[in-house]
Amino acid sequence: MLLKQLFATRTHRMEASEIRELLKLLNRPGLLSFAGGIPDPDLFPAAAFSAAFQAALEPEYQAQALQYSVSEGYLPLRQWIQREMARMGVPCDTDNILITSGSQQALDYLGKLFLSPNDTALVGWPTYLGALAAFNAYEPRYDQLNPGGNRSPASYRDAAAEANSRVKFAYLSPDFANPTGETLSLSGRKALLDLTEELGCAVIEDGAYHALRYEGETIPPVLALEIAQKGSLEQCRTVYCGSFSKTLSPGLRLGWVVASKPVIAQLVLMKQAADLHSPTLNQMAVHQVAEACFDAHVAGLRQAYGARRDAMLSALQTYMPEGVTWTRPKGGMFVWLTLPQHVDTAEVLVRALDQENIAFVPGQAFFADGAGCNTLRLSFSVLDEAEIRTGIERLGRLLSGA
Ligand code: PMP
Repeated sequence: MLLKQLFATRTHRMEASEIRELLKLLNRPGLLSFAGGIPDPDLFPAAAFSAAFQAALEPEYQAQALQYSVSEGYLPLRQWIQREMARMGVPCDTDNILITSGSQQALDYLGKLFLSPNDTALVGWPTYLGALAAFNAYEPRYDQLNPGGNRSPASYRDAAAEANSRVKFAYLSPDFANPTGETLSLSGRKALLDLTEELGCAVIEDGAYHALRYEGETIPPVLALEIAQKGSLEQCRTVYCGSFSKTLSPGLRLGWVVASKPVIAQLVLMKQAADLHSPTLNQMAVHQVAEACFDAHVAGLRQAYGARRDAMLSALQTYMPEGVTWTRPKGGMFVWLTLPQHVDTAEVLVRALDQENIAFVPGQAFFADGAGCNTLRLSFSVLDEAEIRTGIERLGRLLSGA
């Protein structure tokens, strides 16, 4: 292509994956897909949104709803988030909160905020693919984050120094991570804080699935633990990213960042430069729906998704052949499978689509170093329990012959 030679170096790591091409086949009739990590559209609070959009367009509010607005976000929504964060153990001011267009935009901004080319980002092996995609544009080097594991802070620092690099942040999703579904224990969270304190780097805490817990006690966010240690959010190195996508609606593209004021002030400048502000009408509607029914709605989601998780775990127990292991998530949308070392799950996906009309996401794309060929991600969020059982039976048949 004529202009390709003019593209900036940051484009070199932005690649469309073959897997995305394969997953375009997802609307085939009868396909049982465990691939998309998306909420079930039947569970959207659609009636509440309909009323909320209508209300925001009433004469009293329409000038505000349709006009340019402040980059920080709609104040009543930030006040709602302030109360929600306080419930999670994170007392903060509205000046500590920026509304973003989904938490994906926050990840992009945080990459832009912290990463110069060749800076080091610590990420899980595997980690959220969209975080890697967002950070890749800023040309980082990655190293493997394993809080509570046996690597010393010095080993991270030495590895970075050897690459002429400096560790800037650790990114993680402590609750029900995408793609593994795993939760970082309280002691793991404390170990993470010790490690990042020792390294003098930031923590990017992705709380996208925090509200979707199906069993067990809530574990405080890393940011809550850090505030408890240091006495004030202003002293903290953790930046928290929240999202309305998994609880209310991903299509409205609303998320938020909570951080110390200088961090928020810099992110506000980025937002001004990038898109001025997130859509006011959407912010007003989400505010109204959150005020009206957030807790009740999320309680319903927990029940529905929790039953699907149970169905998936019990079907895996019944149908998986020997040599396949999987995670047992306490929330979220995903189960992560590890197959025998020699199995290539990208190849299994081709046969899964062909022979069994099922889909999943091969695990390799979630690894910063391209490892994990024998892993795959299953999502239980959109199929009902009977479909989950049938789909896992088909997957079991396929893997038994693999
Ligand atoms: N973080 C994680 C871990 C996710 O799984 C997702 C969505 N799949 C996001 C962030 C981005 O979500 P959104 O931009 O819709 O808030």
